[in-house]
Amino acid sequence: MWAALAEVGRVAATGGYRRFAWTPPELQCRAWFRQEAAARGLDTHADRNGNLWAWDGAGRPGQAVVTGSHLDSVPDGGAYDGPLGIVSAFAALDILRADDWRPARPLAIVAFSDEEGARFGVACAGSRLLTGALDPGRAAGLRDADGTTLAEAMRAAGEDPEALGRDDDLLARVGCYVELHVEQGRALAGDPDGTGAAAVGVATAIWPHGRWRLDFRGAADHAGTTRLEDRRDPMLPFAETVLLARERAAAAGARATIGRVRVAPNGTNAIASEVTAWLDARAPDEATVRAVVDEVVAGARWWATRQGVEVDLAEESWSGETVFDPLIAERLSVLVGRDGRPAPLLPTGAGHDAGVLAAAGVPTAMLFVRNPTGVSHSPAEYAEPDDCRAGVLALSRVLAELAGTPS
Ligand SMILES: [Zn+2]
Repeated sequence: MWAALAEVGRVAATGGYRRFAWTPPELQCRAWFRQEAAARGLDTHADRNGNLWAWDGAGRPGQAVVTGSHLDSVPDGGAYDGPLGIVSAFAALDILRADDWRPARPLAIVAFSDEEGARFGVACAGSRLLTGALDPGRAAGLRDADGTTLAEAMRAAGEDPEALGRDDDLLARVGCYVELHVEQGRALAGDPDGTGAAAVGVATAIWPHGRWRLDFRGAADHAGTTRLEDRRDPMLPFAETVLLARERAAAAGARATIGRVRVAPNGTNAIASEVTAWLDARAPDEATVRAVVDEVVAGARWWATRQGVEVDLAEESWSGETVFDPLIAERLSVLVGRDGRPAPLLPTGAGHDAGVLAAAGVPTAMLFVRNPTGVSHSPAEYAEPDDCRAGVLALSRVLAELAGTPS
């Protein structure tokens, strides 16, 4: 399965992946999903929001045990973030079937669409639409960098954007959701502030996090002839804001990042007229995130005023803290532990579809597979094959336990 996906959407220059929602590489990944599902005799369909579902024993009584992840990537992302959860889901099903598995409940493997939000700006768009956390009208009108709307992109791929929205019938079939994911930190690699080295860990919580857009508007002019004191250069408050985000996050024990910026007109010999910057902020609790963002925005306004620049703020997305069910997490930790030791329990600063489903009341758990460098959202993202196998085995145990008992 890895070999089939290895070259899809891979950028030769960086070795990273560009699998953005509804673009040809992502559609190729979706076709791969359908093939793997068909090879196992699973019934596959795309739901109203473009998420792909593959069902094993859809006719069994009770609600389904659902596992999966996503196939899309960030710009020049790694191979594991997303696909590891889906490859592992198919592989875990293979283990269960080879093992005289007698499930009492249906099982589904899901690929949520546009988890990273790399193209249209809203993370977990597919799961948020499914649960009603994202307004379908707003979603349909989201535009990518070329001005294409999500509705247009879906229509071009053969999906019907008119159907977008909360899907109560499908949600009613979901009994629980387990997502396996590559770890996006070094807790399992044995970092001092972690819980000890292990191949597989169990998530306890997802930090609250959000995305904010800052539009700095100044005036374009000639880089050679315009006196410094006559300029309204939005680059200056933008640059101060980048540094301030770092400083405030460090002081608060939070994470704040400006990793995306758009400059107009983007000319070497022209003062910029407009700078748009995206701020991503996360912390263990909501009050800390809000306080950091408030301080960064207040600073941005102060620096903007000094340069005669206007600044507007828009909150593009917000996800409150997700606390996974502690009883399920502890049970899984014992279940997937090795050598008599329970698997480590750890919180994460990364958002996931699992968090969206948990917020909608779906009993949810996550397994993390060790990432020796902790690097993610980068071509350097990695997991050892042995750790991936341990993840598959752990997932198969969890699915056997959850699907083996009637709901
Ligand atoms: Zn992911």
